[in-house]
Amino acid sequence: KGTLMKGKRGLVMGVANDRSIAWGIARAVAEQGGELAFTYQGEALGKRVRPLAETVGSTLVLPCDVTDDAAMDATFAAIEKEWGKIDFLVHAIGWADKQFLRGRYVDTPREAFLKALDISCYSFTAVARRAAAIMNPGGSLLTLTYLGAERVMPHYNVMGVAKAALEASVRYMAVDLGGEGIRVNGISAGPVMTLAANGIGDFRYILKWNQYNSPLERNVSLEEVGGAGLYMLSDLSGGVTGEIHHVDSGYHIVGMKNPTAPDI
Ligand code: NAD
Repeated sequence: KGTLMKGKRGLVMGVANDRSIAWGIARAVAEQGGELAFTYQGEALGKRVRPLAETVGSTLVLPCDVTDDAAMDATFAAIEKEWGKIDFLVHAIGWADKQFLRGRYVDTPREAFLKALDISCYSFTAVARRAAAIMNPGGSLLTLTYLGAERVMPHYNVMGVAKAALEASVRYMAVDLGGEGIRVNGISAGPVMTLAANGIGDFRYILKWNQYNSPLERNVSLEEVGGAGLYMLSDLSGGVTGEIHHVDSGYHIVGMKNPTAPDI
């Protein structure tokens, strides 16, 4: 066990199960001595998250639906009561109605757009503000994004638009909070098979495509995304803010399909 995160405390939002990206980051932080609190969305997930939290020595496990301002206030009040200050926050939350993660983006109705943007973008701003209010200088806020923010990905649709807004919000908040010594960054992860990913049309095809066409010729692991998360939350990345860091086997640099890749 390392000591990189020793003496640091933080909140991890977005664990649904042991395949969640949030869990990959939580494990990496816990292995380096960081102390963790978790939130979950609804009691059904609470039943899964509590035993996971226990395995990394965490007992501060709270319900928090990010569409509910009162729930967010209660979460941060509970954390402040227990710990006083925090050092980091992981926001690994995204959602869009499955029905619109296929077909054409142009057909997205207003309600579906607003809900996707609320949960997948605004929620980071909402929790960042509350977290920053109880954050020690040197604190780090981290969110998860995807290349679909920068380029058109099949089926990603309204999530791509939400991620573009999320990435812009990383930059605005980096400036807002930089004076307090608080850093704000995003990790743009390559495709990982999780509960949320399951909702995206043809996700298995996307995984194969990335495997065949990325420089490393494989997909990324939960441990690799966790390792990058650890870097962003620790003092190792002390000079880094407003950054979108790609952890995608290098896929984002490629301009053309690998001509020797097998057919999918
Ligand atoms: P996941 O299903 O394990 O996690 C998504 C989480 O969002 C769940 O814990 C869910 O409870 C939470 N959530 C959704 N709506 C919520 C709400 N209203 N209130 C509180 N929590 C809510 O899937 P994941 O892939 O680990 O997703 C985590 C983040 O990583 C998401 O932002 C996702 O877009 C991003 N991401 C995923 C991939 C991938 O391929 N899996 C790639 C790049 C980025």
